[in-house]
Amino acid sequence: MNTQDIMNTGEEYLLHTYNRYPIVMDRGEGAYLYDSEGKKYLDFCAGIAVFALGYGNEAVNQAVKNQVDKIVHTSNYFYNEPAVKAAKGLCEVSGMDKVFFCNSGTEAIEGAMKTALRYAYDRDGRTGHEIIAMKHSFHGRSLGALSLTGNAHYQDPFKPLISGIHFADFNDLDSVKALVNENTCAIILEPVQGEGGIYPATEEFLTGIRALCDEKDILLICDEIQCGMGRTGVMFACQRYGVRPDIMTVAKALGCGLPVGAFLTTDKAAALKPGDHGSTYGGNPLVCAAADAVLQEFERLQVTDSVQRVGAYLYEKLEELKEEHDIIVDHRGIGLMQGLEFSVPVGDIIKKAQEAGLILINAGTHILRFVPPLVITEAHVDEMIEILKKVL
Ligand SMILES: *Cc1c(COP(=O)(O)O)cnc(C)c1O
Repeated sequence: MNTQDIMNTGEEYLLHTYNRYPIVMDRGEGAYLYDSEGKKYLDFCAGIAVFALGYGNEAVNQAVKNQVDKIVHTSNYFYNEPAVKAAKGLCEVSGMDKVFFCNSGTEAIEGAMKTALRYAYDRDGRTGHEIIAMKHSFHGRSLGALSLTGNAHYQDPFKPLISGIHFADFNDLDSVKALVNENTCAIILEPVQGEGGIYPATEEFLTGIRALCDEKDILLICDEIQCGMGRTGVMFACQRYGVRPDIMTVAKALGCGLPVGAFLTTDKAAALKPGDHGSTYGGNPLVCAAADAVLQEFERLQVTDSVQRVGAYLYEKLEELKEEHDIIVDHRGIGLMQGLEFSVPVGDIIKKAQEAGLILINAGTHILRFVPPLVITEAHVDEMIEILKKVL
């Protein structure tokens, strides 16, 4: 099929839940993408914070190829080595105790919610528990995760959602405290809000929430699906705050392109029992071979060190850009998860950047989001800034 055929046929057969750009992506290499016409793009989106190791990481590709020839799927009636290795690796880097593998971020959230409800059921011997989530959060599109997503535009057509969810103001500890009652079983938050516009939690807020949870025997769920896996210069963003959650959700960069998510619990919060939860594909050897290789590559390439260095450089360059342009009203973020807020919608900037060979995405209508592969160098930042300057 030629490029136009692919787009036309796609419009005919794919359910129109996305307004796609008129580009057919064909292949990737490092920090670059190539479309079906051979045009090259510097990629500061990384498949939405997925391709942490860039395109074509040799060790991950080889691990996946080897596993395809061995066995792709076994079911959870049996053990498989890649899942066991990936689970051990994930616990080592996160400081958590137990892992349940699933296939996406939204499923990891579903598992986290069920874990919290089960924990409280055992604790109180009754049902009717509630969860506190944050306004402007994003936790996924399945009905449970959507119930936690503090965004009326995503929620309203699908109401009523799960009951007993209350929304507090992010970074306002008093607004959380005001919602706590004897039914509260969990507080869920993103240590750095992603889709909501790149808002890092303050240290006071996150450590305050941890203390509140300890005091009231409430489980803290950190959604690390976007901000985890090295993106903020540590493996998981909550570690920047010295906070260990009771439940952590991971996906996006975990498989660097293979669909794998996970929720992790402490021993104390490992409330789910045999029969309480399951997934046919969850933890299958193919995706876990990828996740295991990804974790090993993070260590070998010392990804978090490089994110700290290049992230600081990106911060400096985006600050300079902000000084030069009145339409840029704010700059936020940590490591290689940063955002520029504009006084105008950023749609045109994104389109013009594409024409100039740069892939950027938004987070909300007015915020440009920078979530490049974590293995980029200062030279990639310079190249991005040069294109963005011209576009602006
Ligand atoms: C992307 C994302 C999700 C949902 O993940 P999917 O794999 O799209 O289901 C949940 N939480 C956060 C913070 C995310 O960024």
